[in-house]
Amino acid sequence: MESMAKALTATMRSVAVTPMRAGSARQVELPIPTVSRDTAVMRVLEVGIDGTDTEINGGLYGEAPPGSDFLVIGHEALSVVESVGEGVSGFTPGDLVVSTVRRPDDCPNCRAGESDMCLFGKYTERGIKGAHGYMGEYYGETPAFMVKIPPALRAFAVLLEPLSIVEKATYQAWKIQERMVWQPKRATVLGAGSIGILATILLRLRGLEVHVYAKQPTDSLQASVIEQLGASYRSVDDHPITGIKAELGQVDYILEATGNSTVAFEAMAEVGVNGVLCLTGVSAGNRSIEIPADVINLQMVLGNRVAFGSVNANRRYFEMGVQHFQQAERQWPGIFERLITRRVPFGDFTSALDRRPEDIKTLLTIAAG
Ligand code: BGC
Ligand code: ZN
Repeated sequence: MESMAKALTATMRSVAVTPMRAGSARQVELPIPTVSRDTAVMRVLEVGIDGTDTEINGGLYGEAPPGSDFLVIGHEALSVVESVGEGVSGFTPGDLVVSTVRRPDDCPNCRAGESDMCLFGKYTERGIKGAHGYMGEYYGETPAFMVKIPPALRAFAVLLEPLSIVEKATYQAWKIQERMVWQPKRATVLGAGSIGILATILLRLRGLEVHVYAKQPTDSLQASVIEQLGASYRSVDDHPITGIKAELGQVDYILEATGNSTVAFEAMAEVGVNGVLCLTGVSAGNRSIEIPADVINLQMVLGNRVAFGSVNANRRYFEMGVQHFQQAERQWPGIFERLITRRVPFGDFTSALDRRPEDIKTLLTIAAG
């Protein structure tokens, strides 16, 4: 009787929204998940907040799981394995874990482990689309979606999910460029949020000359981090996107990470010959703009240019991220911790969901450890 009464009261705090209702983030009490034979339960340490979370809380994006009228948000979590079912191998309690976001449907890509390339669109995304996320004290998980984190990466491993996004984008761009002899030397990154900065890190690791165009002032932390990486920082107040080609000459690769669709289209006219433009910013709005269509069309054709979109990341890209974390830390010690600009205690989750211009990555702290 006593243990049953206890089981009934075993609840945990989580943060949930009513999808498509602006400002609906609130605390909810949910039962603590329990392990089954083939699953594990994770105790969440901290959760990163990104533009998608802000858009979901802004009522622009997000979908509750079937049968639920709320969605637990959070898709960037660093956790500790709390318990594992007897059928789980490769993980033991105490291991650090970051889980992937997307869960497959039965399309050919999902079946091949590439749910980030889902064809049917019936995938779910934890904390975003049709499945509860990680912004709570615990979550249950299947090992196939758990990525083990070496303890030495504890201080910044919460950045692995955004890093995985950039790993995919970069990998895909290089894959596409196998269409020719391609010896990229110069890259431009648009935006200096966490995606823009993480992209700069990967491109510098590949030895490229990198120029970042973004809206922050030149004396901002963002600019200083970019400069630490040996890249140049240009504020769009003095260096408009439409002047990139005139200013830099041949640009082999542009990564768009502002989520501003105008910038995405402007960038198409700035890519160099044989170059590639990768779009990663999600714009949930409904904006129309006028574009120099003839110029863009002519340039795309005459210069064999490619523009492509990249979303999400499967576990392969998380694993690449674990390697690059280690490589980048050797080259620029402390670089990732500079990106964590605010740690907010659980009770202040509404303030964590507000985006401030000086923020790079805000974390909601859920547990110590
Ligand atoms: C997440 C991705 C997700 C995308 C679209 C991003 O914020 O990092 O995993 O696929 O939003 O929902
Ligand atoms: Zn699919």
